[in-house]
Amino acid sequence: MKKYVYFFGNGKAEGSGSMKELLGGKGAGLAEMTNLGIPVPPGFTITTEACIEYYNNNKQYPEGMWEQALEALKRLEETVGKKFGDPKNPLLVSVRSGARVSMPGMMDTVLNLGLNDETVKGLAEVSNNERFAYDSYRRFIQMFSDVVLGIEHGKFERILDKVKEEKGVKYDTDLDAEDFKKVVDLYKKLVEQELGKPFPQDTMEQLKLAINAVFDSWNNQRAITYRKINKIPDNWGTAVNIVAMVFGNMGNDSGTGVAFTRNPSTGEKEFFGEFLINAQGEDVVAGIRTPEPIAKLKEEMPEVFKQLEEVYKKLETHYKDMQDIEFTVEKGKLYLLQTRSGKRTARAAVKIAYDMYKEGLIDKKTAVLRVKPEQVDQLLHPMIDPNEKYEVLAKGLPASPGAAVGKVVFTAEDAEIWAEKGEDVILVRNETSPEDIGGMNAAKGILTATGGMTSHAAVVARGMGKTCVAGCGAIKIDEEKKQFEVDGKVIKEGDYITINGSTGEVILGKVKLIMPELSGEFAEILKWADEFRKLGVRTNADTPKDSQVARDFGAEGIGLCRTEHMFFEGDRIDAVREMILSDTEEGRRKALEKIKPYQKEDFIGIFKVMDGLPVTIRLLDPPLHEFLPHTDEDIEKVSKASGIPADKLKAKVEELKEFNPMLGHRGCRLGITYPEVYEMQVYAIMEAACECKKEGVDVKPEIMIPLVGHYKELAILKEMVDRVAKEVMESYGVNIDYLVGTMIELPRAALTADEVAQYAEFFSFGTNDLTQTTLGLSRDDSGKFLPLYVEKGIYKEDPFVSLDQSGVGQLVEMGVKKGRSTRPELKTGICGEHGGDPDSIFFCHKIGLNYVSCSPYRVPVARLAAAHAALLEEN
Ligand code: ADP
Ligand code: MG
Ligand code: MG
Repeated sequence: MKKYVYFFGNGKAEGSGSMKELLGGKGAGLAEMTNLGIPVPPGFTITTEACIEYYNNNKQYPEGMWEQALEALKRLEETVGKKFGDPKNPLLVSVRSGARVSMPGMMDTVLNLGLNDETVKGLAEVSNNERFAYDSYRRFIQMFSDVVLGIEHGKFERILDKVKEEKGVKYDTDLDAEDFKKVVDLYKKLVEQELGKPFPQDTMEQLKLAINAVFDSWNNQRAITYRKINKIPDNWGTAVNIVAMVFGNMGNDSGTGVAFTRNPSTGEKEFFGEFLINAQGEDVVAGIRTPEPIAKLKEEMPEVFKQLEEVYKKLETHYKDMQDIEFTVEKGKLYLLQTRSGKRTARAAVKIAYDMYKEGLIDKKTAVLRVKPEQVDQLLHPMIDPNEKYEVLAKGLPASPGAAVGKVVFTAEDAEIWAEKGEDVILVRNETSPEDIGGMNAAKGILTATGGMTSHAAVVARGMGKTCVAGCGAIKIDEEKKQFEVDGKVIKEGDYITINGSTGEVILGKVKLIMPELSGEFAEILKWADEFRKLGVRTNADTPKDSQVARDFGAEGIGLCRTEHMFFEGDRIDAVREMILSDTEEGRRKALEKIKPYQKEDFIGIFKVMDGLPVTIRLLDPPLHEFLPHTDEDIEKVSKASGIPADKLKAKVEELKEFNPMLGHRGCRLGITYPEVYEMQVYAIMEAACECKKEGVDVKPEIMIPLVGHYKELAILKEMVDRVAKEVMESYGVNIDYLVGTMIELPRAALTADEVAQYAEFFSFGTNDLTQTTLGLSRDDSGKFLPLYVEKGIYKEDPFVSLDQSGVGQLVEMGVKKGRSTRPELKTGICGEHGGDPDSIFFCHKIGLNYVSCSPYRVPVARLAAAHAALLEEN
């Protein structure tokens, strides 16, 4: 018989911390803590395997599961000395979900299960605390009805609010036993009304229904959305944990809390967390009452605090990582209910990894692996320009760092709709709930009125790397009117606000944001990453300023310098248009002579910044049509400025128009048809290089020909480049080490890479165009249907964001192999958007590219991802 149930209790567990896949994260943690001798209430875990089989089995338990659960329940009764469903001294349990990786708020938990009209009396008697018994009962009815029976939780909240209002009190803690009896009666009536039958009194039925609900919650919409966003497979399933209840709501010597062994926001080595006196777990997470900082526990329950400190030290040394723990205190006795590796901001991840290495807890490789490439993007997030002056409207908790500017919206749905239209939005809510996950993802930042540092909004925002200000009590939200009020000021939907998740500030209007720099521990960790990575990291940059940013971020050269942007700047565009409009080669050459000095200046600027590093310059790529005016109005303007008659201009615009410009007269085709254009560019590059070299700059130009499909295109153009280069070098009397290579961005080029490599000293895979041409999918038009393709799982991700490895990837791999078969020392790299995407970088490492090239702000991400690729391959 397969084992579906694992018991833990009395200092011993059948499972262990290494069994996450089978027991889920929570179950494995409970087992491990039990084995470590940490106080955990006893219980048992039903495996994820049972959940998977439940789904495969048409939602029937696999054979033997229920019998094993009943056996474990009996063992639990013996351990605790209480009986489940016993009207005299009832055992109560929590039924808790727990997947392999923690999915905060995604799955549902039921507390105080085992209460009914009879057992509640027994509980009141043995505890000698009627208030506590009925408080637990009303909690149970509400949670069970919400999670298991599907009755909206707000309906219960309103009843509770009404009872409080009638009594004239604010908090649950102000209600007494009689009040809770009233609440229980009203709750039961509500359930009967909603369901057409009474609240289930049979405790065994309660248990079964709750287990089913946990299994079923694996496939509720918010769990599915969360999995999609976080790339968690749908077929992992969840475990169910059934744990003897311990009670934080037994009075002022009881309570419950959430804590981190280090500060999850800054990474500081300090005990960090929150707790509530006389409360049960969900109260802290749901943000109903505002919890107290953990430091206060030291004053209020010094003994418990000391125990807690011991526990957290034990856990950190054991797990060698920062832990996120949940605990409850029952009449002065501490119990741990959960431990997991804590979610943290990028800043905290860096600091903790660095510190733990310095403390000797982990080695360098582990430290590097602890910082996730996707996550460090956060560190490169905008912050408020320190030179800005602004007025703070209100202050909340600094729940997730970075700053964000956007228009206010009040529902998750609006956030998604507005973001879809390209608006930056800040989602403003009283508190967020798991249903809001899509909107939170779409928003630039999140602002909540209630809830603490461990509220849903805060935890999820930190995980997503979103700016979040939580618990900003000063704002009064009116969801119906779609506005909020602070100090008499009204902020309406669509108004701009700025929030600072590092300080908790909420600011009216737009404030200028700036990008941060690399420094301190982060720079250090990246240096360690550099020790391990095999891939080079270059940048895509076409101005000296961007080049400098990238170099400061650790770029080892430029992998793509586009020259077309230079054609637009200032009054150069006039000369460019003159060139395009002239009908003779001579006319074109005259115009090009005007452009050349500008181009040369551009290159000199970039060469100087990149002193000592290679600079790959791509010759002109876009169709000429893009440089001409298009509307009548613009044509008129250009005509006036240039003296070219408007009708002649119009005729030229017509003539150059293409049905399919992406597949039209562009790339090296321009170089073949108008050799003088590319010639001018090569003169500019080589003259710039020679002049720089004379000044002592170490220049390494790499001239790149775009959109080659046939090796003969490259043969012709390489000959031209070499001829011009020779001429320039001779006239300056200097020698430059330059390379000539090509982009591989057409399937034909990849397929014939062995031929192409005869003329190319390097290949740079232009995976944007290569994706477009391989998939036959226009980058500019696919927005209308590609998201649906991703939703339906046809492509796991947008192939323009993350490389389509099994399709386009094959061409890249083939290109590298074939190219190197002709020219073993061929340099290969990638310069599409994919060069900054961690998954794609893993792929580039695997197939042995020499480097990736990405936008300047992605360079640190790429350095880290390349190190991870190398380290994970080692393992
Ligand atoms: P989540 O995955 O949402 O964190 P949990 O299963 O951890 O859900 O339950 C949430 C909270 O409920 C816990 O942090 C704890 O405070 C409380 N809780 C769960 N089980 C018990 C229990 N057996 N006794 C007391 N409190 C519990
Ligand atoms: Mg939960
Ligand atoms: Mg929990």
